[in-house]
Amino acid sequence: MKRIGLLTSGGDAPGMNAAIRAVVRTALYYGMDVFGIERGYAGLIEDTMYKMEMRSVSNIVQLGGTRLRTARCLEMLNPEGQKKAVKTLEKHGIEGLVVIGGDGSFRGAKCLTEDYGIPTIGIPGTIDNDLEYTDYTLGFDTAVNTCLEVINKLRDTMTSHERISVVEVMGRHCGDIALYAGITSGAEIIVVPEISYDMNDIVTRINRSRENGKHSNIVVVAEGAASADEFAKELQELTPYSVRATNIGHIQRGGSPSMADRMLAAQFGNKAVRLLKDGIGNRVVGIHNNSIIDMDIIEAVSMKKRFNYELYETLQMISM
Ligand code: ATP
Repeated sequence: MKRIGLLTSGGDAPGMNAAIRAVVRTALYYGMDVFGIERGYAGLIEDTMYKMEMRSVSNIVQLGGTRLRTARCLEMLNPEGQKKAVKTLEKHGIEGLVVIGGDGSFRGAKCLTEDYGIPTIGIPGTIDNDLEYTDYTLGFDTAVNTCLEVINKLRDTMTSHERISVVEVMGRHCGDIALYAGITSGAEIIVVPEISYDMNDIVTRINRSRENGKHSNIVVVAEGAASADEFAKELQELTPYSVRATNIGHIQRGGSPSMADRMLAAQFGNKAVRLLKDGIGNRVVGIHNNSIIDMDIIEAVSMKKRFNYELYETLQMISM
């Protein structure tokens, strides 16, 4: 394979730029031409493609966001849009495509592969960590670290005023950001979409922690389970302690990628191009038990994400 395309799609995630760099540099190493497509599938349909060179990706390894920009594109959901996307690829003689994005982006890649025969490799780029086949997605580690910075600061002020902080984090339908941020920040309670919650139980746990000498509480709420504002109002009705709500919001998606995310980006980008070089398409790359893996794209998107109940129980045991 001599000529490949590259796009980022869906929600942006820290580490996407580092992955773009790894894809471009690996392709150039193997003497392949690499074309960047701006604005995801929308850009593929409109043809925003341009040739990338060694210096196109200089000085971006440390940057959040995505140099290629990203988009959500409804047109890609129907065959007319998909045919336009394929036409752009054919026009430029693109033989294989790397898609960096989340599960929606992978469905787009699966469709290009399955219905139109374009060899495609998916790199999991999303802060949500909502893909079952890989232990971690690109951007998750940085996003959780951003949550930790905010929660640490909230703990200072909540302790001074002896308050309860309800902190909303992202993750769509997946509770992993709340789980990992909760356990590593010392939050007393997490509320995730995978487990239904009972407000009276939460109040009992808070009361017990106060009896045990605690001066503040942190409740991390995943966006897929509840909104911080509504949850805080409901909790305030049942407790004498003052409750404050904070929604961390989009700052979770920005910022310089952590070492862990830059390392994943380097390995995912490199692996993706090596597969295409060997004429292998229709795969996604990931990490499992500390090894870089690849898997059939159709199988990967059909896997249902499992929640880590063991970690949840650990939090329950050590957080009081
Ligand atoms: P994140 O998890 O960070 O939100 P994502 O990749 O899951 O990222 P989506 O908005 O779900 O984000 O998907 C990105 C884009 O992928 C969509 O806007 C659409 O263009 C394309 N896409 C999603 N599902 C399909 C599908 N079934 N067929 C073709 N294209 C799809």
